[in-house]
Amino acid sequence: MSDIKHPEIDLDPQDWPAFRALAHRMLDHALDHVQGAKERAIWQPVPADVKTALKAGVPHAPQGIDKVCDDFLEQVLPYSTGNTHPRFWGWVHGTGTAGGVIAEMLAACMNSNLGGRDHGAIYVEQQVVNWCKSLFGFPTSASGLLVSGTSMATVIALAAARFKVLEYPVRSTGLQNGTKRLVGYTSVEGHSCISRAFDLLGFGTDALRKIPVDQNYQMDMRALSAAIAHDRAAGLTPFMVVGAAATVNTAAVDPMHEIAELCEKEKLWFHVDGAFGAVAALGDKHTELYKGLDRADSLAFDFHKWMHVPYDAGCVLIRDAEAHRGAFNSRPEYLAEAPRGLAGGEQWFCDYGPELSRGFRALKVWFTLKEHGIEGITRKMEDNCAQARQLAQWVGEQPALELMAPVSLNIVCFRYRLDDAEKSDTLNREIVMQLQEEGIAAPSTTVLQGRAAIRVNITNHRSRLADFELLIQEVLARGEASNA
Ligand SMILES: *Cc1c(COP(=O)(O)O)cnc(C)c1O
Repeated sequence: MSDIKHPEIDLDPQDWPAFRALAHRMLDHALDHVQGAKERAIWQPVPADVKTALKAGVPHAPQGIDKVCDDFLEQVLPYSTGNTHPRFWGWVHGTGTAGGVIAEMLAACMNSNLGGRDHGAIYVEQQVVNWCKSLFGFPTSASGLLVSGTSMATVIALAAARFKVLEYPVRSTGLQNGTKRLVGYTSVEGHSCISRAFDLLGFGTDALRKIPVDQNYQMDMRALSAAIAHDRAAGLTPFMVVGAAATVNTAAVDPMHEIAELCEKEKLWFHVDGAFGAVAALGDKHTELYKGLDRADSLAFDFHKWMHVPYDAGCVLIRDAEAHRGAFNSRPEYLAEAPRGLAGGEQWFCDYGPELSRGFRALKVWFTLKEHGIEGITRKMEDNCAQARQLAQWVGEQPALELMAPVSLNIVCFRYRLDDAEKSDTLNREIVMQLQEEGIAAPSTTVLQGRAAIRVNITNHRSRLADFELLIQEVLARGEASNA
Protein backbone atom coordinates (compact mmCIF):
# COMPACT_ATOMS: atom_id res chain seq x y z
CA MET A 1 0.00 0.00 0.00
CA SER A 2 1.19 3.47 -0.81
CA ASP A 3 1.99 5.77 2.08
CA ILE A 4 1.11 8.81 -0.02
CA LYS A 5 -1.94 10.15 1.78
CA HIS A 6 -3.24 12.92 -0.45
CA PRO A 7 -2.03 12.24 -3.96
CA GLU A 8 -4.99 13.98 -5.58
CA ILE A 9 -5.02 17.16 -3.50
CA ASP A 10 -2.80 20.09 -4.47
CA LEU A 11 -2.58 23.61 -3.08
CA ASP A 12 -4.84 25.09 -5.73
CA PRO A 13 -8.25 26.56 -4.87
CA GLN A 14 -10.94 23.94 -4.33
CA ASP A 15 -13.54 26.29 -5.73
CA TRP A 16 -12.07 28.28 -8.60
CA PRO A 17 -15.13 30.47 -9.28
CA ALA A 18 -15.23 31.59 -5.64
CA PHE A 19 -11.48 32.16 -5.71
CA ARG A 20 -11.78 34.26 -8.85
CA ALA A 21 -14.50 36.41 -7.31
CA LEU A 22 -12.34 36.96 -4.24
CA ALA A 23 -9.29 37.78 -6.36
CA HIS A 24 -11.27 40.39 -8.31
CA ARG A 25 -12.47 41.95 -5.06
CA MET A 26 -8.90 42.10 -3.77
CA LEU A 27 -7.76 43.74 -6.98
CA ASP A 28 -10.39 46.40 -6.38
CA HIS A 29 -9.08 46.92 -2.87
CA ALA A 30 -5.57 47.29 -4.27
CA LEU A 31 -6.65 49.83 -6.87
CA ASP A 32 -8.80 51.74 -4.36
CA HIS A 33 -5.72 52.02 -2.20
CA VAL A 34 -3.69 53.52 -5.04
CA GLN A 35 -6.44 55.72 -6.43
CA GLY A 36 -7.37 56.98 -2.96
CA ALA A 37 -3.79 57.72 -1.88
CA LYS A 38 -4.46 61.47 -1.64
CA GLU A 39 -7.54 60.99 0.53
CA ARG A 40 -5.93 59.20 3.46
CA ALA A 41 -3.74 60.45 6.26
CA ILE A 42 -0.16 59.84 5.22
CA TRP A 43 0.71 57.66 8.14
CA GLN A 44 -0.79 56.35 11.33
CA PRO A 45 0.92 54.26 13.96
CA VAL A 46 0.07 50.57 14.07
CA PRO A 47 -2.47 50.25 16.95
CA ALA A 48 -1.67 48.02 19.90
CA ASP A 49 -4.39 45.46 19.12
CA VAL A 50 -3.12 45.09 15.57
CA LYS A 51 0.42 44.60 16.85
CA THR A 52 -0.92 41.92 19.15
CA ALA A 53 -2.78 40.23 16.32
CA LEU A 54 0.43 40.23 14.30
CA LYS A 55 2.20 38.35 17.06
CA ALA A 56 -0.15 35.34 16.73
CA GLY A 57 1.81 32.09 16.48
CA VAL A 58 2.56 29.77 13.60
CA PRO A 59 -0.61 28.99 11.56
CA HIS A 60 -0.38 25.21 11.73
CA ALA A 61 -3.95 24.62 10.61
CA PRO A 62 -5.10 26.07 7.28
CA GLN A 63 -7.09 29.29 7.68
CA GLY A 64 -8.26 29.62 4.10
CA ILE A 65 -7.75 32.45 1.63
CA ASP A 66 -10.86 34.44 2.66
CA LYS A 67 -9.60 34.75 6.20
CA VAL A 68 -6.12 35.72 5.06
CA CYS A 69 -7.55 38.44 2.82
CA ASP A 70 -9.69 39.78 5.66
CA ASP A 71 -6.70 39.83 7.99
CA PHE A 72 -4.66 41.68 5.39
CA LEU A 73 -7.33 44.34 4.90
CA GLU A 74 -7.66 44.82 8.63
CA GLN A 75 -4.15 44.36 9.96
CA VAL A 76 -1.80 45.33 7.17
CA LEU A 77 -3.16 47.55 4.41
CA PRO A 78 -4.17 50.58 6.53
CA TYR A 79 -0.70 50.94 8.05
CA SER A 80 1.53 51.68 5.08
CA THR A 81 4.59 53.94 5.15
CA GLY A 82 2.62 56.57 3.26
CA ASN A 83 4.96 56.96 0.33
CA THR A 84 2.02 56.65 -2.07
CA HIS A 85 0.71 59.97 -0.68
CA PRO A 86 1.41 63.33 -2.41
CA ARG A 87 2.92 64.84 0.75
CA PHE A 88 5.41 62.06 1.50
CA TRP A 89 8.87 63.60 1.25
CA GLY A 90 10.85 61.65 3.82
CA TRP A 91 14.22 59.97 3.13
CA VAL A 92 14.15 58.88 -0.54
CA HIS A 93 11.06 56.84 -1.36
CA GLY A 94 9.40 56.34 -4.71
CA THR A 95 5.65 56.69 -5.10
CA GLY A 96 4.86 53.50 -7.02
CA THR A 97 2.30 53.34 -9.83
CA ALA A 98 -1.04 51.72 -10.55
CA GLY A 99 0.57 49.86 -13.45
CA GLY A 100 3.04 48.40 -10.97
CA VAL A 101 0.16 46.59 -9.26
CA ILE A 102 -0.62 44.75 -12.50
CA ALA A 103 3.04 43.94 -13.09
CA GLU A 104 3.55 42.48 -9.60
CA MET A 105 0.47 40.32 -9.98
CA LEU A 106 1.51 39.02 -13.38
CA ALA A 107 5.04 38.25 -12.25
CA ALA A 108 3.56 36.14 -9.46
CA CYS A 109 1.48 34.09 -11.89
CA MET A 110 4.59 33.06 -13.84
CA ASN A 111 6.60 32.35 -10.70
CA SER A 112 9.82 32.61 -12.69
CA ASN A 113 13.28 31.99 -11.31
CA LEU A 114 15.78 34.23 -13.05
CA GLY A 115 18.96 32.59 -11.77
CA GLY A 116 19.41 31.29 -15.29
CA ARG A 117 18.18 28.83 -17.93
CA ASP A 118 16.35 29.59 -21.13
CA HIS A 119 12.91 31.12 -20.63
CA GLY A 120 11.07 34.32 -21.44
CA ALA A 121 11.66 36.19 -18.19
CA ILE A 122 15.43 36.07 -18.74
CA TYR A 123 15.07 37.97 -21.99
CA VAL A 124 12.98 40.63 -20.25
CA GLU A 125 15.73 41.25 -17.69
CA GLN A 126 18.34 41.29 -20.44
CA GLN A 127 16.29 43.84 -22.31
CA VAL A 128 15.92 46.04 -19.22
CA VAL A 129 19.67 45.84 -18.56
CA ASN A 130 20.39 46.69 -22.21
CA TRP A 131 18.07 49.70 -22.06
CA CYS A 132 19.93 50.91 -18.97
CA LYS A 133 23.32 50.49 -20.61
CA SER A 134 22.14 52.58 -23.50
CA LEU A 135 20.49 55.22 -21.29
CA PHE A 136 23.56 55.75 -19.11
CA GLY A 137 26.17 55.61 -21.84
CA PHE A 138 27.60 52.17 -21.09
CA PRO A 139 28.89 50.12 -24.04
CA THR A 140 26.87 47.12 -25.27
CA SER A 141 29.70 44.90 -24.02
CA ALA A 142 29.01 46.00 -20.42
CA SER A 143 27.11 43.76 -18.04
CA GLY A 144 24.35 44.40 -15.56
CA LEU A 145 22.01 42.82 -13.07
CA LEU A 146 18.77 43.74 -11.40
CA VAL A 147 19.02 43.63 -7.62
CA SER A 148 17.04 44.63 -4.55
CA GLY A 149 18.48 48.13 -4.51
CA THR A 150 21.54 50.31 -4.58
CA SER A 151 22.95 48.75 -1.40
CA MET A 152 23.24 45.36 -3.09
CA ALA A 153 24.30 46.94 -6.37
CA THR A 154 27.18 48.62 -4.52
CA VAL A 155 28.37 45.33 -3.01
CA ILE A 156 28.39 43.74 -6.45
CA ALA A 157 30.21 46.64 -8.11
CA LEU A 158 32.85 46.68 -5.39
CA ALA A 159 33.30 42.91 -5.63
CA ALA A 160 33.98 43.30 -9.36
CA ALA A 161 36.47 46.07 -8.63
CA ARG A 162 38.18 43.95 -5.97
CA PHE A 163 38.44 41.03 -8.36
CA LYS A 164 39.92 43.23 -11.07
CA VAL A 165 42.56 45.06 -9.05
CA LEU A 166 43.96 42.12 -7.12
CA GLU A 167 46.25 39.86 -9.09
CA TYR A 168 46.02 37.06 -6.54
CA PRO A 169 42.96 34.77 -6.44
CA VAL A 170 41.04 36.81 -3.90
CA ARG A 171 37.98 34.60 -4.19
CA SER A 172 39.85 31.62 -2.78
CA THR A 173 42.42 33.26 -0.52
CA GLY A 174 40.27 36.12 0.70
CA LEU A 175 42.04 39.35 1.48
CA GLN A 176 44.16 37.55 4.11
CA ASN A 177 47.05 36.57 1.92
CA GLY A 178 47.19 39.83 0.10
CA THR A 179 50.20 42.03 0.13
CA LYS A 180 48.15 44.96 -1.09
CA ARG A 181 46.16 47.04 1.37
CA LEU A 182 43.31 48.46 -0.67
CA VAL A 183 41.77 51.85 0.11
CA GLY A 184 38.85 53.66 -1.52
CA TYR A 185 37.35 57.13 -1.40
CA THR A 186 33.99 58.78 -1.15
CA SER A 187 32.88 62.08 0.30
CA VAL A 188 31.72 62.66 3.86
CA GLU A 189 28.24 62.90 2.32
CA GLY A 190 28.57 59.42 0.78
CA HIS A 191 25.77 56.98 1.58
CA SER A 192 26.21 54.48 4.41
CA CYS A 193 25.75 51.56 1.99
CA ILE A 194 29.28 52.22 0.69
CA SER A 195 30.80 51.67 4.13
CA ARG A 196 28.67 48.58 4.49
CA ALA A 197 29.99 47.18 1.25
CA PHE A 198 33.56 47.85 2.44
CA ASP A 199 32.72 45.97 5.60
CA LEU A 200 31.07 43.00 3.84
CA LEU A 201 33.82 42.58 1.28
CA GLY A 202 36.51 42.46 3.92
CA PHE A 203 38.22 45.79 3.20
CA GLY A 204 36.96 47.15 6.50
CA THR A 205 35.22 50.49 6.82
CA ASP A 206 38.48 52.22 7.78
CA ALA A 207 39.68 51.57 4.23
CA LEU A 208 36.98 53.94 2.98
CA ARG A 209 38.34 57.47 3.18
CA LYS A 210 35.73 60.17 3.67
CA ILE A 211 36.77 63.21 1.66
CA PRO A 212 35.53 66.66 2.74
CA VAL A 213 32.97 68.56 0.67
CA ASP A 214 32.81 72.19 -0.43
CA GLN A 215 30.02 74.68 0.37
CA ASN A 216 27.82 72.97 -2.24
CA TYR A 217 28.30 69.59 -0.53
CA GLN A 218 30.28 68.31 -3.53
CA MET A 219 33.45 66.31 -3.10
CA ASP A 220 36.52 68.52 -2.71
CA MET A 221 38.74 67.35 -5.55
CA ARG A 222 41.93 68.80 -4.11
CA ALA A 223 41.39 66.97 -0.88
CA LEU A 224 40.74 63.78 -2.86
CA SER A 225 44.01 64.07 -4.79
CA ALA A 226 45.87 64.80 -1.59
CA ALA A 227 44.36 61.78 0.16
CA ILE A 228 45.33 59.48 -2.71
CA ALA A 229 48.89 60.79 -2.72
CA HIS A 230 49.10 60.42 1.04
CA ASP A 231 47.89 56.81 0.94
CA ARG A 232 50.26 55.89 -1.88
CA ALA A 233 53.16 57.40 0.06
CA ALA A 234 52.15 55.24 3.02
CA GLY A 235 52.40 52.10 0.88
CA LEU A 236 48.66 51.53 0.52
CA THR A 237 46.87 50.76 -2.75
CA PRO A 238 44.13 53.22 -3.69
CA PHE A 239 41.71 51.31 -5.91
CA MET A 240 38.43 53.14 -6.29
CA VAL A 241 36.52 56.39 -5.96
CA VAL A 242 32.78 56.49 -5.36
CA GLY A 243 31.10 59.62 -6.69
CA ALA A 244 27.56 60.48 -5.66
CA ALA A 245 24.95 61.37 -8.24
CA ALA A 246 23.31 62.58 -6.06
CA THR A 247 23.91 62.62 -2.28
CA VAL A 248 21.14 61.59 0.05
CA ASN A 249 21.32 64.66 2.32
CA THR A 250 21.11 67.50 -0.18
CA ALA A 251 21.11 65.93 -3.69
CA ALA A 252 24.55 67.34 -4.44
CA VAL A 253 26.16 65.77 -7.50
CA ASP A 254 29.89 65.19 -7.12
CA PRO A 255 32.06 66.54 -9.96
CA MET A 256 31.66 63.50 -12.21
CA HIS A 257 33.90 64.71 -15.00
CA GLU A 258 36.77 65.60 -12.67
CA ILE A 259 36.50 62.31 -10.81
CA ALA A 260 36.52 60.44 -14.14
CA GLU A 261 39.68 62.31 -15.20
CA LEU A 262 41.39 61.63 -11.91
CA CYS A 263 40.46 57.95 -11.94
CA GLU A 264 41.82 57.60 -15.44
CA LYS A 265 45.09 59.27 -14.48
CA GLU A 266 45.45 57.32 -11.22
CA LYS A 267 44.13 54.04 -12.67
CA LEU A 268 41.30 53.77 -10.17
CA TRP A 269 37.88 52.19 -10.54
CA PHE A 270 35.22 54.92 -10.80
CA HIS A 271 31.96 53.84 -9.19
CA VAL A 272 28.89 56.07 -9.20
CA ASP A 273 26.19 55.93 -6.54
CA GLY A 274 23.23 57.06 -8.60
CA ALA A 275 20.55 55.62 -6.32
CA PHE A 276 17.93 58.24 -7.10
CA GLY A 277 20.02 60.87 -8.86
CA ALA A 278 20.97 58.85 -11.94
CA VAL A 279 17.45 59.49 -13.24
CA ALA A 280 18.24 63.20 -13.46
CA ALA A 281 20.93 62.37 -16.02
CA LEU A 282 18.20 61.16 -18.37
CA GLY A 283 16.64 64.60 -18.81
CA ASP A 284 18.21 67.36 -20.90
CA LYS A 285 18.38 69.98 -18.14
CA HIS A 286 21.25 68.62 -16.08
CA THR A 287 23.71 67.48 -18.74
CA GLU A 288 26.51 69.67 -17.43
CA LEU A 289 26.09 68.31 -13.90
CA TYR A 290 26.26 64.71 -15.12
CA LYS A 291 29.05 65.08 -17.65
CA GLY A 292 31.46 62.22 -16.98
CA LEU A 293 28.86 59.79 -15.63
CA ASP A 294 29.20 57.81 -18.86
CA ARG A 295 32.85 57.20 -17.99
CA ALA A 296 32.03 55.30 -14.82
CA ASP A 297 33.34 51.76 -14.44
CA SER A 298 30.19 50.89 -12.55
CA LEU A 299 26.89 52.51 -11.71
CA ALA A 300 24.44 51.56 -8.97
CA PHE A 301 20.92 52.98 -9.08
CA ASP A 302 17.33 52.31 -8.10
CA PHE A 303 14.16 51.87 -10.08
CA HIS A 304 12.13 52.05 -6.87
CA LYS A 305 12.99 55.66 -6.08
CA TRP A 306 12.67 58.27 -8.82
CA MET A 307 11.38 55.84 -11.45
CA HIS A 308 8.50 54.78 -9.20
CA VAL A 309 8.75 51.05 -9.83
CA PRO A 310 7.23 49.25 -6.82
CA TYR A 311 9.75 48.10 -4.20
CA ASP A 312 12.18 46.57 -4.51
CA ALA A 313 14.19 47.08 -7.69
CA GLY A 314 17.67 48.42 -8.32
CA CYS A 315 20.40 47.84 -10.87
CA VAL A 316 24.14 47.56 -11.21
CA LEU A 317 25.92 48.23 -14.50
CA ILE A 318 29.56 47.22 -14.93
CA ARG A 319 31.66 48.33 -17.85
CA ASP A 320 34.06 45.36 -17.66
CA ALA A 321 31.75 42.36 -17.98
CA GLU A 322 34.69 39.97 -17.51
CA ALA A 323 35.52 41.45 -14.11
CA HIS A 324 31.86 41.27 -13.17
CA ARG A 325 31.50 37.63 -14.17
CA GLY A 326 34.91 36.75 -12.77
CA ALA A 327 33.86 38.04 -9.37
CA PHE A 328 30.86 35.72 -9.12
CA ASN A 329 30.73 32.82 -11.53
CA SER A 330 31.13 29.32 -10.12
CA ARG A 331 28.66 26.63 -11.05
CA PRO A 332 28.63 23.04 -9.85
CA GLU A 333 27.49 20.17 -12.09
CA TYR A 334 23.87 20.35 -11.09
CA LEU A 335 23.77 23.86 -12.49
CA ALA A 336 25.74 23.23 -15.67
CA GLU A 337 24.34 24.72 -18.80
CA ALA A 338 23.32 22.63 -21.78
CA PRO A 339 23.65 23.37 -25.48
CA ARG A 340 19.89 23.09 -25.92
CA GLY A 341 16.73 22.76 -23.87
CA LEU A 342 15.72 24.59 -20.72
CA ALA A 343 19.27 24.50 -19.34
CA GLY A 344 20.46 26.50 -22.36
CA GLY A 345 20.64 30.27 -22.65
CA GLU A 346 23.73 32.38 -23.16
CA GLN A 347 23.67 34.29 -19.96
CA TRP A 348 22.82 32.97 -16.53
CA PHE A 349 22.30 35.83 -14.12
CA CYS A 350 23.53 33.73 -11.18
CA ASP A 351 27.04 34.26 -12.62
CA TYR A 352 26.79 38.00 -11.95
CA GLY A 353 25.79 38.22 -8.30
CA PRO A 354 25.60 36.26 -5.06
CA GLU A 355 22.03 35.01 -5.51
CA LEU A 356 21.05 31.84 -7.31
CA SER A 357 17.27 31.99 -7.11
CA ARG A 358 16.05 35.36 -8.32
CA GLY A 359 12.53 36.69 -8.76
CA PHE A 360 11.04 38.41 -11.77
CA ARG A 361 11.76 41.99 -10.62
CA ALA A 362 12.50 42.85 -14.20
CA LEU A 363 8.84 42.64 -15.14
CA LYS A 364 7.70 45.59 -13.04
CA VAL A 365 10.63 47.63 -14.37
CA TRP A 366 9.78 46.62 -17.94
CA PHE A 367 6.13 47.54 -17.36
CA THR A 368 6.91 50.93 -15.84
CA LEU A 369 9.48 51.98 -18.45
CA LYS A 370 7.26 50.92 -21.33
CA GLU A 371 4.05 52.35 -19.88
CA HIS A 372 5.41 55.80 -19.05
CA GLY A 373 8.43 55.93 -21.31
CA ILE A 374 11.68 57.58 -20.32
CA GLU A 375 9.89 60.79 -21.33
CA GLY A 376 7.13 60.35 -18.78
CA ILE A 377 9.60 59.53 -16.04
CA THR A 378 11.97 62.39 -16.79
CA ARG A 379 9.06 64.83 -17.11
CA LYS A 380 7.99 64.05 -13.54
CA MET A 381 11.63 64.23 -12.44
CA GLU A 382 11.92 67.75 -13.93
CA ASP A 383 8.60 68.71 -12.30
CA ASN A 384 9.98 67.62 -8.94
CA CYS A 385 13.13 69.70 -9.47
CA ALA A 386 10.99 72.74 -10.37
CA GLN A 387 8.87 72.13 -7.27
CA ALA A 388 12.05 72.05 -5.17
CA ARG A 389 13.15 75.40 -6.62
CA GLN A 390 9.72 76.87 -5.90
CA LEU A 391 9.75 75.57 -2.34
CA ALA A 392 13.24 77.02 -1.81
CA GLN A 393 11.99 80.37 -3.10
CA TRP A 394 9.05 80.33 -0.70
CA VAL A 395 11.40 79.49 2.15
CA GLY A 396 13.57 82.44 1.11
CA GLU A 397 10.58 84.76 1.22
CA GLN A 398 9.81 83.93 4.84
CA PRO A 399 12.04 85.71 7.37
CA ALA A 400 11.22 83.02 9.95
CA LEU A 401 12.56 80.27 7.69
CA GLU A 402 16.07 79.57 6.60
CA LEU A 403 17.38 77.50 3.70
CA MET A 404 20.04 75.10 4.99
CA ALA A 405 21.71 73.96 1.76
CA PRO A 406 21.76 74.94 -1.91
CA VAL A 407 19.07 73.22 -3.99
CA SER A 408 20.67 71.46 -6.94
CA LEU A 409 17.93 68.98 -7.84
CA ASN A 410 15.02 67.78 -5.72
CA ILE A 411 15.96 68.09 -2.05
CA VAL A 412 15.19 71.18 0.04
CA CYS A 413 16.59 71.45 3.56
CA PHE A 414 15.33 74.32 5.68
CA ARG A 415 14.38 75.19 9.21
CA TYR A 416 12.35 77.46 11.39
CA ARG A 417 14.70 79.99 12.92
CA LEU A 418 14.89 80.75 16.61
CA ASP A 419 17.50 82.95 18.28
CA ASP A 420 18.60 79.98 20.33
CA ALA A 421 20.04 77.45 17.85
CA GLU A 422 19.59 74.47 20.18
CA LYS A 423 15.96 75.32 20.76
CA SER A 424 15.55 75.65 17.03
CA ASP A 425 16.99 72.11 16.58
CA THR A 426 14.45 70.73 19.02
CA LEU A 427 11.61 72.71 17.49
CA ASN A 428 12.30 71.59 13.93
CA ARG A 429 12.51 67.94 14.94
CA GLU A 430 9.28 68.37 16.87
CA ILE A 431 7.54 69.96 13.89
CA VAL A 432 8.47 67.00 11.67
CA MET A 433 7.20 64.46 14.22
CA GLN A 434 3.93 66.38 14.58
CA LEU A 435 3.38 66.60 10.83
CA GLN A 436 3.94 62.85 10.54
CA GLU A 437 1.81 61.92 13.55
CA GLU A 438 -1.06 64.10 12.41
CA GLY A 439 -0.87 62.53 8.97
CA ILE A 440 -0.40 65.92 7.29
CA ALA A 441 2.98 65.62 5.62
CA ALA A 442 6.02 63.39 5.94
CA PRO A 443 9.32 65.20 5.49
CA SER A 444 12.27 63.76 7.42
CA THR A 445 15.09 65.47 9.28
CA THR A 446 18.82 65.62 8.86
CA VAL A 447 21.76 67.47 10.33
CA LEU A 448 23.68 69.99 8.24
CA GLN A 449 26.72 71.76 9.68
CA GLY A 450 25.72 70.59 13.10
CA ARG A 451 22.16 71.94 12.95
CA ALA A 452 18.85 70.10 12.54
CA ALA A 453 17.03 70.65 9.27
CA ILE A 454 13.64 69.73 7.90
CA ARG A 455 14.52 67.71 4.83
CA VAL A 456 12.05 67.60 1.92
CA ASN A 457 13.00 65.04 -0.70
CA ILE A 458 10.77 65.25 -3.75
CA THR A 459 10.73 61.93 -5.58
CA ASN A 460 6.95 61.96 -5.75
CA HIS A 461 4.88 62.06 -8.92
CA ARG A 462 1.70 62.94 -7.00
CA SER A 463 2.95 66.12 -5.25
CA ARG A 464 1.35 69.37 -6.40
CA LEU A 465 2.44 72.94 -5.65
CA ALA A 466 -0.47 73.29 -3.21
CA ASP A 467 1.06 70.47 -1.15
CA PHE A 468 4.22 72.51 -0.64
CA GLU A 469 2.21 75.63 0.19
CA LEU A 470 0.48 73.66 2.89
CA LEU A 471 3.83 72.49 4.23
CA ILE A 472 5.10 76.07 4.53
CA GLN A 473 1.90 77.15 6.29
CA GLU A 474 2.03 74.28 8.73
CA VAL A 475 5.69 74.82 9.59
CA LEU A 476 5.17 78.55 10.08
CA ALA A 477 2.10 78.03 12.24
CA ARG A 478 3.88 75.54 14.47
CA GLY A 479 6.99 77.69 14.70
CA GLU A 480 4.95 80.76 15.63
CA ALA A 481 2.98 78.82 18.23
CA SER A 482 6.22 77.73 19.91
CA ASN A 483 7.50 81.30 19.85
CA ALA A 484 4.32 82.79 21.37
C1 LIG B 1 18.67 55.09 -1.12
C2 LIG B 1 20.10 55.34 -1.38
C3 LIG B 1 21.04 54.31 -1.32
C4 LIG B 1 20.67 52.91 -0.91
O1 LIG B 1 19.80 52.37 -1.86
P1 LIG B 1 18.78 51.18 -1.45
O2 LIG B 1 17.98 51.02 -2.68
O3 LIG B 1 17.99 51.71 -0.30
O4 LIG B 1 19.59 50.00 -1.11
C5 LIG B 1 22.34 54.61 -1.64
N1 LIG B 1 22.71 55.86 -2.00
C6 LIG B 1 21.84 56.89 -2.05
C7 LIG B 1 22.32 58.24 -2.46
C8 LIG B 1 20.50 56.66 -1.73
O5 LIG B 1 19.63 57.67 -1.79
